[in-house]
Amino acid sequence: MMYNKMTSRLALTSLWREIPMGLRCVACLRLCPVLILMITVCGAPLGLARTPDTIPLAPLPDQSVWSEAYKARQGAVYEARARSLGLQKAFAGDPAKTAAMDAYDAHFYFLDLDLDPSVNILTATVAMAATVVADSLTEAELHLDNGMLVSATRAGGVAVAWTHGFDLLDVTLDRTYLQGESFTIEVDYAGNPAGDYFGWSSYNGAPLIWTLSEPYGAREWWPCKDLNSDKADSVAVDVTVPDSLVVAGNGLLMGTDTPEPGKTTYHWRERHPIATYLVSATAHPYTLIEDTYTGLLGETMPLQHYVVADKVAEATAGYAPTADMIHTFALAYGEYPFLDEKYGHAHFLWGGGMEHQTCSSMGFNYYNQTFVAHELAHQWFGDNITCADFHHIWLNEGFATWSEAYWLEQSQGELAYKGRMNQQKYLGAGSVYVYDVSNFNGIFNYWTTYAKASWVVHMLRHVMGESDFFAALADYRAAYGDSSATTEQFQAVCEQVSGLDLGQFMSQWIYGEYYPQYGISWTKTPVGPNWRVDLRIKQTQTNAGLFSMPLDIRVTTPLGDEAFVVQNQDEVQWYHFMVAHEPEDVLVDPDAWVLCEQTDLGISGVVAPAAEVSLLGAVPNPFNPRTSIRLSLPTAQEVGLVIYDLAGRRVRDLAPGLLSAGEHDVLWDGRDQTGREAASGTYFVRMTAGETHAVNRLTLVR
Ligand SMILES: [Zn+2]
Repeated sequence: MMYNKMTSRLALTSLWREIPMGLRCVACLRLCPVLILMITVCGAPLGLARTPDTIPLAPLPDQSVWSEAYKARQGAVYEARARSLGLQKAFAGDPAKTAAMDAYDAHFYFLDLDLDPSVNILTATVAMAATVVADSLTEAELHLDNGMLVSATRAGGVAVAWTHGFDLLDVTLDRTYLQGESFTIEVDYAGNPAGDYFGWSSYNGAPLIWTLSEPYGAREWWPCKDLNSDKADSVAVDVTVPDSLVVAGNGLLMGTDTPEPGKTTYHWRERHPIATYLVSATAHPYTLIEDTYTGLLGETMPLQHYVVADKVAEATAGYAPTADMIHTFALAYGEYPFLDEKYGHAHFLWGGGMEHQTCSSMGFNYYNQTFVAHELAHQWFGDNITCADFHHIWLNEGFATWSEAYWLEQSQGELAYKGRMNQQKYLGAGSVYVYDVSNFNGIFNYWTTYAKASWVVHMLRHVMGESDFFAALADYRAAYGDSSATTEQFQAVCEQVSGLDLGQFMSQWIYGEYYPQYGISWTKTPVGPNWRVDLRIKQTQTNAGLFSMPLDIRVTTPLGDEAFVVQNQDEVQWYHFMVAHEPEDVLVDPDAWVLCEQTDLGISGVVAPAAEVSLLGAVPNPFNPRTSIRLSLPTAQEVGLVIYDLAGRRVRDLAPGLLSAGEHDVLWDGRDQTGREAASGTYFVRMTAGETHAVNRLTLVR
């Protein structure tokens, strides 16, 4: 794939242009039909509840680090909570996922938030529109942290009763709703959600309010069905703050207004499907840096970076490659998913980043290109396609981490790609699949769900081949964009495109642990004018079962290299190659496409078993339209002879069956199993006789 350098235009302003009030309202209403419907249904605009006097002020935890102790405690709390809910609640994949939540499909949320950093209190009304999928529904259950104090609930616009416990909010509906009917509820609440998911920080003497809800934190500050498997079609987020602050959010800013002197309300609208943990708002006296991305068809999209005032120079330089990165990923993965909205960054106080939809939250001291590329790539893998639950977080993090290397490859070349992958090479315990999703450390374990997962993507790229790999990513987008996916759904798309069976691949790399350790030895023998190479590969790992992988083999000679591909899956396998010149070296996986370790077991002392069993080459080769494959057997035995293409697909089973001792010629007429003429190109003939496997390369030139 070619990389086209694009020109970036950076414009620096401290405030964006004001949208005329009239236009703003028209635009807002035109773009939010669900909101109009809901307001109509409710009979009156949604009100903003006031702060009750009884809200306790929780002490602020240290927000500068992700507290390991807090995460561990939360994990235990979730697990314990799920167990305590026991008989009536089902814990099926998501912490505190309940059977009651399966009864409806959430469509739309309207968050009307008032953030008061002078007292650290959030006062809010959140509305949800949903459709009943059960036979009927009389009560809607949402996640909401017990620390939030609910003061009123409404359904269909009328006041209704609620119960709130175990971090679950159950709102009685105004009537019984039947399957297929839509309903709306509103929740007035307030509290101090400060913790790992929401912070009242300050920077240079001014408030810096942030959110970071992944994986289970949305429920800490707003009521919602907090499950990746049920994305809202869109969200509206109104945030009212002291007028010294600027609010960054998801989607497009439709305008601002002044609800009362000294306060400003920001109207953010995300009109693409979005998971609850990707809904975000940050507030600070930000400086706005603007830029433009030009889409693949020439559309223009704003880039908006909300940065702290004393980091404008660093941010301007650090975020300058963003447009080029979007272009690179758009060519590889399909157009940026939110092209009719924006992409951008908002500074927060964390040491890392968080891929909030269309507006990644970024630590303001970090501008590595790989860091910017990682959060950007999440807009495709994580935001547009979200892991169905956090068992499958590698579908987010593996692709984002691999995309760091892919950006380096496209901008700096293959060496940079390989160098980055080498940095991410993890040779340790732990599976990529997260078996225990109540364990935060397991979900966000850098070495397994990020680094090793990026190697899974890297290996898949080679196993499938470049064109099938990227074609599969396009099909994956088409099937699961705006939605969520599991490992098995991703696997099915890859299998559909490539024709490969990837069951063993996923089993060993996603669900299993460790990696293959290959013990290598080889010998060379002159055969007439040619040389035969006998290669022995022994899988020596004791901490995992046998791995099944195609392996590139490179035989180096003074007059050039010869390349082969072999399938390796047994504890000990022999391979025999015929090459035209005396071999200098035999390299296994020379380009580092497989997560493995290799040990050179040396040449001496190795004797190929049944060395007389061998493939002696093909005549003619290159050939058109047919060639004769010669093999030699010491004793009568069953022989398998299969033609594969470069991608490892079976093209033709020549099935010679039981052959007598001696030399035999087996004809391949250049046709595949269905009788069609095979295309010009490189093929491999693989012979199996007893424990011996031998491979020769064939070149068909039509
Ligand atoms: Zn990430």
